[in-house]
Amino acid sequence: MKRLKHLFQRNLEWATGIKEANPDFFTDLSRQQAPDYLWIGCSDSRVPANQIVDLPPGELFVHRNIANVVVHTDLNCLSVIHFAVNVLKIKHIIVCGHYGCSGVKAAIDGKPHGFIDNWLCHIKDVSRLNYSKLQGLSQEDKCDKLCELNVLEQVKNVCQTSIVQNAWRSGIELSVHGWIYNIENGILRDMDTCITSLEQFSERCGEI
Ligand SMILES: [Zn+2]
Repeated sequence: MKRLKHLFQRNLEWATGIKEANPDFFTDLSRQQAPDYLWIGCSDSRVPANQIVDLPPGELFVHRNIANVVVHTDLNCLSVIHFAVNVLKIKHIIVCGHYGCSGVKAAIDGKPHGFIDNWLCHIKDVSRLNYSKLQGLSQEDKCDKLCELNVLEQVKNVCQTSIVQNAWRSGIELSVHGWIYNIENGILRDMDTCITSLEQFSERCGEI
């Protein structure tokens, strides 16, 4: 148990099952990855990127952190976006939030949470920026609304990176999407915020 043998057993069964269905699967995949999508989502264990959109290994490039935040100076996230856009040539960046996000809840519950409060300041910023939209809501409704507003804000942050803006300036086809996932029924919703060019971002920046 100390060495987590059960996980290695599950891994063996998983790999064997895939090879039985497609003997060349891993050989083909080991030669290259060519995903069309970059997924920026929450680290929450209930929101596994590939499973939600039912895509096999090789189809989704993934970055996850608490509350799917895209911080302007986060070298980790920026490096992922840079690699996805400039090396993998992905066509779509998907920012996917989810209702009931523990990170969002913690950001507005008024209690101290230790070190993570520094990260949650980014969510508090979204709350402050959207004060009028959140005012008067119950704590639960406020959390759900802030989960949505956070997706919109992070879409904006992705569009503001030099990486995405340079790609658009170079004529590269690249769309940035905002989605939200419902952990209670497993359903994804497109928040209709798709941005595909610098002009569109400039026009819509005030709306999202
Ligand atoms: Zn979350």
